Amino acid sequence: MSVVFFNGPIQNGDFVFANRPGKAAGIRIAEALNSIARGPAVPHLWNTTTLAGDLRHRAATGQQQVDREALEAATILGKYPPGGLPAAGILTDTAPAVAALALDMVTRHLTHGTLTITPVTVRACARCGHMTGTGPYPCRNCGSTETRPRTERHLIADRDPARPVLSPNDFHAHHSRPPRHLLNIATNVPQRLILSRTRSHGIDLGPMGLPGLVLDPRAALHVTVLAAARDVHTDCAAMAATQSAAANVAAYGQHFRQHEGVQLRYAVHGRIPYEDTTTLHRLYEVHRVSPRARALFEDWYLPLCSLRERDQVRPERLPSLLKFLRRATLAAYTARDPARREEVRRAVKLGDTGWITNIDLLPHVIPSVLGEPDPLDGL
Ligand SMILES: [Zn+2]
Repeated sequence: MSVVFFNGPIQNGDFVFANRPGKAAGIRIAEALNSIARGPAVPHLWNTTTLAGDLRHRAATGQQQVDREALEAATILGKYPPGGLPAAGILTDTAPAVAALALDMVTRHLTHGTLTITPVTVRACARCGHMTGTGPYPCRNCGSTETRPRTERHLIADRDPARPVLSPNDFHAHHSRPPRHLLNIATNVPQRLILSRTRSHGIDLGPMGLPGLVLDPRAALHVTVLAAARDVHTDCAAMAATQSAAANVAAYGQHFRQHEGVQLRYAVHGRIPYEDTTTLHRLYEVHRVSPRARALFEDWYLPLCSLRERDQVRPERLPSLLKFLRRATLAAYTARDPARREEVRRAVKLGDTGWITNIDLLPHVIPSVLGEPDPLDGL
């Protein structure tokens, strides 16, 4: 089985990577692992079916008509530093290829009866019609506090109670570290899930007989990964996701993790404490870390280290990780053994992460070291 890594689609919110490097963790993980495994360059995946995006679009529209796709794309591209656009481009959760695949999958599930179109009663905003959920909250679309029940047809997943939402097989590296907490969320998921949403942007379910409704973005992001996987001809797509992100989307992805021999698995990683800049900056000053060494540490090594953590890379471990990377980089000058590199490649495909902190293995896969100035020069 070939494995290609993808980032979990990032919400196209109000940030740029320079200020929120943690948002790029999944992208960095996928890049590092695909490069080691000699996999293809993959697009960066984005989630644009958001209510915030609806509001942003409405604000931008004003007098003149602003194309929503173009606005989303411009917002995404503005997040990258100059010259930092991905080689394989970006893919959004509303791209035509993703929408076509999603409708194909929904159609098959409707045929098999795993999904149905069923009238259900939902709570909706009395002013704008937005589905508001059951709590006593004001409408997030227009701010009105008046909601009323409304019965209408929706795309429904009625869960088979005998079938868990998640199994160990849904995780890359399932053999070594079964994420028990995530497996347990299965018990907290309601038996009936509504997979259609009121949004002004998304995968339009009109062709399924649900005009005005779009596929829930938590389902659509899985389809985005599958569509990207199909383009690079892999049978296993490992999607980088933090534990909480995976917990938020797993139930909605239950029917969207497998299609025509392609399997999506979660590659769970911990958070990276980029925001702990006091620790990091002091460290760089003390060790006089060069910009290249810093980039290798932050953009390559810390994302890899996050694969060994369930919750987060603890800030107090940063000094020892930096020291370890320095040792490994020095060793890389003499240790470039193809057999060891192959050993790491096998580990990456299996989801083993021991090599990341193994001084006998890591030096063999540190990028761009031979024949170049020491990236950790001055460390
Ligand atoms: Zn409203």
